[in-house]
Amino acid sequence: MAEFTMELNDEQKEVRDWLHGFAADVIRPAAAEWDEREETPWPVIQEAAKVGIYSLDFYAQQYFDATGLGIPMAMEELFWGDAGIALSIVGTGLAAVGVLANGTEEQIGTWIPQMYGDAGDVKVAAFCSSEPDAGSDVASMRTRAVYDEAKDEWVINGTKTWATNGGIANVHVVVAVVDPDLGSKGHASFIIPPGTPGCSQGQKFKKHGIRASHTAEVILDDVRVPGSCLLGGKEKLDERLARAREKAKQGGERVKNAAMATFEASRPAVGAMAVGTARAAYEVALDYATTREQFGRPIIDNQGVAFQLADMRTRIDAARLLVWRASWMAINGKPFTAAEGSMSKLFASETAKKVTAQAIQILGGNGYTREYPVERMHRDAAIYTIFEGTSEIQRLVIARTLSGMPIR
Ligand SMILES: Cc1cc2nc3c(=O)[nH]c(=O)nc-3n(C[C@H](O)[C@H](O)[C@H](O)COP(=O)(O)OP(=O)(O)OC[C@H]3O[C@@H](n4cnc5c(N)ncnc54)[C@H](O)[C@@H]3O)c2cc1C
Repeated sequence: MAEFTMELNDEQKEVRDWLHGFAADVIRPAAAEWDEREETPWPVIQEAAKVGIYSLDFYAQQYFDATGLGIPMAMEELFWGDAGIALSIVGTGLAAVGVLANGTEEQIGTWIPQMYGDAGDVKVAAFCSSEPDAGSDVASMRTRAVYDEAKDEWVINGTKTWATNGGIANVHVVVAVVDPDLGSKGHASFIIPPGTPGCSQGQKFKKHGIRASHTAEVILDDVRVPGSCLLGGKEKLDERLARAREKAKQGGERVKNAAMATFEASRPAVGAMAVGTARAAYEVALDYATTREQFGRPIIDNQGVAFQLADMRTRIDAARLLVWRASWMAINGKPFTAAEGSMSKLFASETAKKVTAQAIQILGGNGYTREYPVERMHRDAAIYTIFEGTSEIQRLVIARTLSGMPIR
């Protein structure tokens, strides 16, 4: 176990400064343009691929950092640059993690390279779980996967929604129901290879924020994929389903389960994205408050403004500490006895919303215009309390974990 320290080591500082340079020189200057275009910023992803930021190697290196701080540090810097563009860069990683977590070595080796492509021909990937009637309530998912034994193929039908990179992805990872009697325990994940007939993009959403990130429906109409596209393989699935059926027979299960543990480990990464956006807005506000003069003095000379900045910075630092604690716990296999992962996501995402709103207030009329970036940052920040589990769902998870009660 790595020795506890509050300081990044030299290697981490080097990576952080390198990422910050990319975020400042490449991402931030492109942010307003791609927000207005509401399109995937392919040239920026390409640039990230050229320098090695858009790659599995980079993601894996940060993921396996023994202190746990690699991923949160990377997310904070990239999202400090711009949330929409950063999500376009890291969205593939979210799908890749689905394969890394559940796939066989062969599946990892086959599909992850196709998710990223290469610097000359970059590709993206999508993770498709949400459905029009199954957002927070994942158990009510309807997309169905049926095994065709004669052909050793899975046949998948359904509609996925709000999928980041949905429809433009080279590889889609799709969660589907294989046993409707088992609720979320009867779900399995499938790879949809590039160009598979029946898999198409539905509506592309026009969004409030993170507009440089593509979000769309994915239609699955009699999609047939080889048996080898079931993540983890058929044998493992059959064993898992048998165990779930046995447990269902024995009666209700406690709320703490393996799936929840996985979410606890991944949620701090979203918290770190929120910290990046909050920090970006705070920095703009601090700079503005020290240079903008009213009544013959910088507006920061007023306690009403200065105290807001003090609160903003305090909340941001507290959010980062919660994110780092949960990330450190995840890499060291510490049990999340108080849902510390959900806590970090809840606090950091609420912080991003609050701090970006305060930043607009401090910039006054300028903050409300697109001449300054805080208006965009505030629109972007609203996503953090919604995706990867809304704030209400985080509170539910925390309350259930603390009490052991099935609070609804
Ligand atoms: C930009 C964007 C990108 C996304 N990317 C992806 C992606 O790549 N892949 C993917 O699978 N999904 C993705 N999502 C979907 C996202 O995870 C869902 O939107 C989210 O889980 C919430 O589901 P919902 O929108 O259906 O809201 P609902 O579940 O309908 O919730 C609506 C409101 O009711 C509240 N609520 C619901 N149940 C409870 C309860 N039990 N107690 C208290 N309050 C409750 C919620 O907190 C919320 O405020 C994305 C969404 C967006 C907007």
